[in-house]
Amino acid sequence: MPLHTNQPHQHSITFLPSGRGAAQGPPDPNYPHGIQLDLAQGASPSCTIDLPYPAPECGLFLIKCPLCEVNIAVTCAGRVDDPTRIIIPCRLQQVRSQPS
Ligand SMILES: [Zn+2]
Ligand SMILES: [Zn+2]
Repeated sequence: MPLHTNQPHQHSITFLPSGRGAAQGPPDPNYPHGIQLDLAQGASPSCTIDLPYPAPECGLFLIKCPLCEVNIAVTCAGRVDDPTRIIIPCRLQQVRSQPS
């Protein structure tokens, strides 16, 4: 049975500390409740992933979709303007929908 993005699947989320510790600068006042990052921009299919918020400190979240194995890195700073959610295009459909 072929995999499809509308079947529930667990994304792996790995936090990589940058080693700089907590952010020094103040958070962006425009995003007091975090940022939703939309990297899919309307592309379909896409995956929506809730991130641990706020991040523990400055670093990167590495996100991997188990269906299409795309890897995405998102920077974060352990502040209120960290990303709370990310939407990424899923490549699965493109791979499988190529004309045969
Ligand atoms: Zn996915
Ligand atoms: Zn995917």
